[in-house]
Amino acid sequence: MQSDFLIIGAGAVGLTSAIALLQAGYQVTLVERGNVGQEASWAGGGILSPLCSWDYPEAVTRLAHRGMAMFAEAAESLHQTTGIDPEYERSGMLVLPPLQWEQAQHWCGQHHFDMQSVSVADYLPLQNQTGLLLPEVAQVRNPRLMTALRKRVEMLGGVILEQCEVQNFVYHAGRITGLHTTRGELHADGYIVTAGAWSQQLLGEHAMRIDIRPIRGQILLFKFEAPPFRPILLKKDLYLIPRRDGHVLVGSTLEEVGFDKSTTIEARAGLLQRVYEVFPDWKGIQPIRHWAGFRPGSPENIPTIGAHPTISNLYINSGHFRYGVTMSLASAELLLNEIIGRAQPFPVEEYRWC
Ligand SMILES: Cc1cc2nc3c(=O)[nH]c(=O)nc-3n(C[C@H](O)[C@H](O)[C@H](O)COP(=O)(O)OP(=O)(O)OC[C@H]3O[C@@H](n4cnc5c(N)ncnc54)[C@H](O)[C@@H]3O)c2cc1C
Repeated sequence: MQSDFLIIGAGAVGLTSAIALLQAGYQVTLVERGNVGQEASWAGGGILSPLCSWDYPEAVTRLAHRGMAMFAEAAESLHQTTGIDPEYERSGMLVLPPLQWEQAQHWCGQHHFDMQSVSVADYLPLQNQTGLLLPEVAQVRNPRLMTALRKRVEMLGGVILEQCEVQNFVYHAGRITGLHTTRGELHADGYIVTAGAWSQQLLGEHAMRIDIRPIRGQILLFKFEAPPFRPILLKKDLYLIPRRDGHVLVGSTLEEVGFDKSTTIEARAGLLQRVYEVFPDWKGIQPIRHWAGFRPGSPENIPTIGAHPTISNLYINSGHFRYGVTMSLASAELLLNEIIGRAQPFPVEEYRWC
């Protein structure tokens, strides 16, 4: 049977878009070049919040906060329906000094976002400073989230084609009429690009003014017997994310190096040096893994969501840059609203494709 929608790219954004459409009654096929959820959505830290929200424009805050508000229930529902626990946890985030106190306080007050000024010594030994605790910040465990989302798509009747690369679009008279793929030609009524860092390249001449480029991020993984601290820690651009089983993710870098997915000695050394500033006693401990992924980088971290300006059956949901997991549920909601003509929950001008 021909699908109503072909969705290109099965990361967090493609999978959540598929679920939203399936739940609205559409037939959906996801087309994935590799395997489901193995790119940015696997590689990321799973922090469900912008790092310092006060550094970003309102368009980021609006979408991120709606996504954050949807996550607890969605994660519980995924766990219940699929049996896979994405390990959603409201662990809070402790922002260590130096930080922009005034800006942070102003932003939290304006957005009714809970914040507490705390003694860092209550969380970390030997650190006699004042930090900013954001208790509402939560996290998920990316690989588990990806597996749960995949299973949910399949349970809802979605079709997933893996090892199937979309090579280009067949265009005729203002519409897309098919996709050329490594597994032959595919057809649907509508086409949705959720190809992350590859979205602009894939769209080619149809990309219009979209500016999405790969921004490499590297992460180090440590393993302890038990979580060595509870909240996510943020010190300038370094974050440490404790998982339930004692794994700690340390990230990250922001590198514009094209599609080169290598990990580098320089990044490893730089991350380690900054970790030792927070935990001098970790000096003898080696990370057990080191990986890289490509964020779909976009100007000001604002994704593009919705219909192509001139091709009536082509849509995009991409460019979520540093916060694609955080924004995924809300972004899928906005896309569905546009497709079915339902009112949006807030102004969406900034996300439009133009
Ligand atoms: C190191 C790092 C840390 C991060 N930390 C966080 C965090 O803590 N919190 C947060 O919210 N976000 C974080 N992010 C960002 C987040 O991971 C991304 O914004 C998000 O995963 C993007 O999801 P996506 O589905 O658009 O892209 P992806 O997950 O990259 O998925 C795109 C998919 O499209 C497929 N594809 C591409 N081209 C084609 C084609 N031609 N045909 C078929 N399939 C194709 C790819 O194979 C891929 O599977 C982080 C990212 C990185 C790299």
